[in-house]
Order: sequence, then structure tokens, then C-alpha cells
Amino acid sequence: MLKATRDFFSSNKFVYLQNLKKIELHTQLSVFKSKDHLPLLTLDLMDAAEKARENAYAPYSKFRVGAAILLENGEVITGNNQENAAYPSGLCAERVAIFFAGSQFPNLKIMQLAVTARSEKQTLNVPIPPCGSCRQSIAEYEIKQNHPIEIFFMGETGQVYKSDSIKDLLPLLFDSNSLK
Ligand SMILES: [Zn+2]
Repeated sequence: MLKATRDFFSSNKFVYLQNLKKIELHTQLSVFKSKDHLPLLTLDLMDAAEKARENAYAPYSKFRVGAAILLENGEVITGNNQENAAYPSGLCAERVAIFFAGSQFPNLKIMQLAVTARSEKQTLNVPIPPCGSCRQSIAEYEIKQNHPIEIFFMGETGQVYKSDSIKDLLPLLFDSNSLK
């Protein structure tokens, strides 16, 4: 077995790579110099996310995350990370907020999501993106409502990154089509 593996990587690898076709996936983000450069409506949303962030329950990671969702009727839903001594039982801010929005306002479109993070260990001056599980959850709602969700994310300070759709953060996403 080991020899076969070694042979594959030494002799066949070259032929194998030659026969590969590669595809490129294009994604794009916009960059705001700082929170203060956001459009007014989104600045308010980021402020709401910041406020929610400070109420996070993060005794283990000391990493507080706040999320704010803007619905099509102007309603704002916020959430923050909720940790647990049994670590996987906790939940990220983005999913706390989006599940609440989905449960309370199932027929309203989610227009924007703002996310901000603050660590008690260091100053976060780079944008903190949603984790993979949150991206997958956001994707579910974007597909369900058939309308892109704009996502703005930042650290405690510094630049704000914006994706026009979850597709820019999660190319080749798994959706219900994969189940057919
Ligand atoms: Zn997450």
C-alpha cells in the first residue's frame, strides 16, 4: 500500500496533473475604509450589531460577536454569540439572529446583515467573516427568499468588507438542488 502510494506520487502524478482541467471561481467583495464610510442605513445597522455584541455570552472565548439583520419592512433583528461549557452546544451571533428572523418573520425578506466582533485578548482591526456553518445557514435564507442578502462584516475597528450576496462568501454552495 505504501509502495503504491509512493509510486503514484513519484511517477503517475505528472500524467495525472496533465489530464486535469481546472475551473476558476470568481468572487468579489467591496471594502469600506471604516464603519464611518458606510451608507447611513447600514451604519445604523452596524451600530445595532455593536450594541448586541456587548451583550454576547462569551465567557470561554472572550470573543464577542454581534449581528444585526435588516428586514424589508425596516425591522432590525439582532443576535450575539451564546457559548456553552459543552462547546458545540453554543451558537454564533449570525445564526442566533437569522434563526430568530426566520422564526418570527418568515415572510419578510432579509435585506442586509451586519457583523462585528471584539476580542478581550487583542484589538481586532481586520474584518471577521461569518464562519462556514453561518454561511451555509445564510445561504438557505437567501435561496428561500430568492433575493440576495448584503453582508457587511468588520472587527472592532478598521475596514468593513461587504459581499453583495452569500454566493461571494460561499461559492459552490450546497443547496436543495443537490438533494434532487
Ligand atoms: Zn458562525
